Amino acid sequence: MLRIESVKGREVLDSRGEPTVEVDVTLAGGARGRFTVPSGASTGENEAVALRDGDGKRFGGRGVLKAVENVNGVIAKAVVGLDGTDQINLDRRLCDLDGTDTKSRLGANAILGVSMATAQAAAAGLGVPLFRYVGGVVARTLPVPQFNVLNGGRHADSGLDVQEFMLMPVGAESFAEALRVGAEVFGALKKLLTEKGFSTAVGDEGGFAPRLTGHEHALSLLVDAGGRAGYEAGEDVVLALDAAASEFYDANEKVYRLKTEGRSYEGEALVDYWAALAEKFPIASLEDGMAEDDWAGWRLLTERLGAKVQLVGDDIFCTNVTRLARGIEGNVANALLVKVNQIGTLSETLDAVAMAKAGGYACVFSHRSGDTEDTAIADLVVATNAGQIKSGSLCRSERMAKWNQLLRIEEALGPSAQFAGEDVLRKTAWLDTTGRGA
Ligand code: PGA
Ligand code: ZN
Repeated sequence: MLRIESVKGREVLDSRGEPTVEVDVTLAGGARGRFTVPSGASTGENEAVALRDGDGKRFGGRGVLKAVENVNGVIAKAVVGLDGTDQINLDRRLCDLDGTDTKSRLGANAILGVSMATAQAAAAGLGVPLFRYVGGVVARTLPVPQFNVLNGGRHADSGLDVQEFMLMPVGAESFAEALRVGAEVFGALKKLLTEKGFSTAVGDEGGFAPRLTGHEHALSLLVDAGGRAGYEAGEDVVLALDAAASEFYDANEKVYRLKTEGRSYEGEALVDYWAALAEKFPIASLEDGMAEDDWAGWRLLTERLGAKVQLVGDDIFCTNVTRLARGIEGNVANALLVKVNQIGTLSETLDAVAMAKAGGYACVFSHRSGDTEDTAIADLVVATNAGQIKSGSLCRSERMAKWNQLLRIEEALGPSAQFAGEDVLRKTAWLDTTGRGA
């Protein structure tokens, strides 16, 4: 038992220059842990709620001093003295103290900061890395990264409706090699864009944000950039999209409006749209192809594409076991996007991962578009052997911090490390339907 001795919150800034909560926890014996909370832009309606001050005189109302006050006051009072190595008990206490379903009273930002900083402190107190503390002896899987190299939607002003165009180097032999492949393709893409006269300024997640003519244009550029770097799309590198469809769904009219195509789509028509894109390009994974409350559309999408494409539920599930259970029961999606701040505690996040795995769903850990130098999610993806992670592109240090931490973990694991590789796609028969890996 390592008792929590002190809890200290503060307001710091995230990668968009917006305030966020950072928490330091100290345990008896002196071990310390820290967590700096990330923040989304295309946040799901059903996410746990980050508390913002709403004081227009500071940061346009986005300050988090109230959440910090909750950490240093009511939360510290309740958790000091608890066993820092009993994460489940700690997280339960935090949830009870808040008392709401969405953690809106004390703030999910306040609660997550304490939950995660305590886990970091416990790991330090026990003298093991976070991935080992959370994952125990079975932690060994280095994830296939999803590199978000072209940004659209709410993350950039590129005009593209699809928020993220990603590369997955499934053919690599190790995480370090996957990172190298990603960086080489990213570099080739930069050259290609420059040659064609497009901007190489980057969006929130570090991907380029050129004004392209549409989604097919973006996908072709990825294929070409892969080729220039010496990698075959569909073989060494496969493509992944996060459509973030809630952002272009009109819930009143029940239609999806794609600016790039200049037209609206009913659910079934949008499924046809994705199916056609997946036919034309080696798209192995599609996240949030439908909107967060369009369960019927999601079912259609899953029936139509689920056997071929990994369908990742982000806004629809919100890392929430109640919503995920409904999805598994109703044949909605076949993979879960995992964001710690969507649910607000470490143990609830681990519960969601466990439920996804038991239901045969793949898991993709994820950063947020507003992120920080914190690297804990790199440890968590290895701890859970989840097999996939997205943390932006191959630039911006808040993104690189996670990739670099995965390099360190791979090094620390040595010969015990196992790179998830193309096996991550076996769950959806993508490999078989494309004739690979037979
Ligand atoms: P967000 O975007 O952090 O802005 O929500 C990430 C995502 O949609 O996956
Ligand atoms: Zn998403």
